[in-house]
Amino acid sequence: MAPRYDAVVVGAGFGGIGAAIQLDRLGLGDYVVLEREDDLGGTWHVNHYPGLAVDIASVTYSYSFEPNPHWSRLFAPGAELKKYAEHVADKYDLRRRMRFGTEVRGARWDDNEQQWEVSLADGEVLTSRYLLAATGFLSQPYTPPFPGIDTFEGKIIHTTAWEDDFDVTGRKAAIIGTGATAVQLVPELAERAEALTVFQRTPIWVVPKVDAPIPAAVRTLFERVPATQQVARMVNTTMLEALMVIGVLHFKQAKPLNRAAGLLAKAHLRTSVRDKRTRRELTPHYDFGCKRPTFSNAYFRAFNRSNVRLETSSIERITPRGIVTADGTETEIDTLVLATGFNLWDVNFPAIEIIGRDGTDLGKFWRDNRFQAYEGITVPKFPNFLSLNSPYSYSGLSYFTTIEAQMKHMGRLFGELVRRGETTFEVTERANTEFLDRVTDKLGSSVFYGGDCSTARSYYFNQHGEAALLRPNSTVSTYRHAVSFPLDDYRYGATSIPEVPSA
Ligand code: NAP
Repeated sequence: MAPRYDAVVVGAGFGGIGAAIQLDRLGLGDYVVLEREDDLGGTWHVNHYPGLAVDIASVTYSYSFEPNPHWSRLFAPGAELKKYAEHVADKYDLRRRMRFGTEVRGARWDDNEQQWEVSLADGEVLTSRYLLAATGFLSQPYTPPFPGIDTFEGKIIHTTAWEDDFDVTGRKAAIIGTGATAVQLVPELAERAEALTVFQRTPIWVVPKVDAPIPAAVRTLFERVPATQQVARMVNTTMLEALMVIGVLHFKQAKPLNRAAGLLAKAHLRTSVRDKRTRRELTPHYDFGCKRPTFSNAYFRAFNRSNVRLETSSIERITPRGIVTADGTETEIDTLVLATGFNLWDVNFPAIEIIGRDGTDLGKFWRDNRFQAYEGITVPKFPNFLSLNSPYSYSGLSYFTTIEAQMKHMGRLFGELVRRGETTFEVTERANTEFLDRVTDKLGSSVFYGGDCSTARSYYFNQHGEAALLRPNSTVSTYRHAVSFPLDDYRYGATSIPEVPSA
């Protein structure tokens, strides 16, 4: 039986939108995008806490083929990203393919029919030739199991479930977590709350954010002469690339650059925070880059306010009216903000149950073996499956470099399928192993293994202590691979034909 769809895409964030655009370009137009939320935009739909803004300059954090000359600032506020996602979806006429409020339970490869069966939470089953998971990296919010949290009588709010009409004015609030989200939110809460206690377990590196409104004249120039925005994108992307490739991936060879970034962050801290003890407590004791660095001109300064206090004693339990720390003190609060991030490695890889050939469960495979995916996109035993948010898939600092490289990978792979007149592909074990060996070897030079990351508690590392998230390549080389990977890294045709073992 022919499948109902050419393809099912899970997730209507920027990854899913890019994949959908590419499916249309490849002539696989009969697809559906399934989205558990009630609208598109992924991260930028879910997150709308005060202070939310992109922290990669907007000229780079956007599709290269769909520049937006209307960004109001160098680092656009979150709402503009959501609007941009809507604009792109409308321009490419993707909305009619999207089904919102549709939760995918899991997907199973049917070897007889050479197609995927995708099960939805409401019991419906869809069949499709290809399956693309675009479920994002940071899409499974995490709430730590603090003892007593259920007894808390005040307001609890996770940053991913912000209520826009919630007003912290006059409240005694606490925020748990000091990741990139808290760095944006703390200054906003500090301005309104009567008292704000910031519970920090691990300090974060913060460098100044070179942000400003984009003057109307420049926006007009970007609109009338798009090449000018392309130049701005190239300059900014090159700077980010240097930071990532030289400072993080080639840490061993270029320690001074990494050290310089750390010194810049320390100088920023020294000039921003008056109290010596607070400064000491805000100073990270792991190398710059072990954890995603953040950018802010307001975060450190918030700790100078008389209504803001930094708490570094670890959280023991939560009571009906406060938080008790290991030193025995209780901080009385009426509002608890959880900026505790996301669970990547336990529930996000993969975000849904995926059962491939021979009943292989992707989550179990990754956990029992090593987290792996050829070119960060395909896995042996999972035919006709593209996992867009895979181990070793994230390349560069802007997510859009990853998305666009994966779109190119799709172009080459599906082009070959058409050329051969086939409809099924599967990456070979050999190609997958070689890729894993290559990235493992390259990561040896990175800050993750060459630097001191022991106290970073970084989500770049999985439960086995492997830095299996970022692809250790320049984005240029990721693109090069995407358009030139050896075509015989895949098998084409029905998966019941066994793979010929390599000599
Ligand atoms: P995160 O970086 O994972 O931070 C979570 C915070 O919660 C950490 O400070 C963590 O402390 C703390 N935490 C977790 N469990 C805890 C516990 N049991 N006790 C005490 N503290 C606990 O999450 P995030 O801040 O939401 O940021 C995630 C990522 O989203 C960022 O790295 C970035 O990539 C992205 N992001 C981007 C933007 C942007 O571009 N505008 C904005 C926000 C976020 P430990 O460090 O000790 O674990």
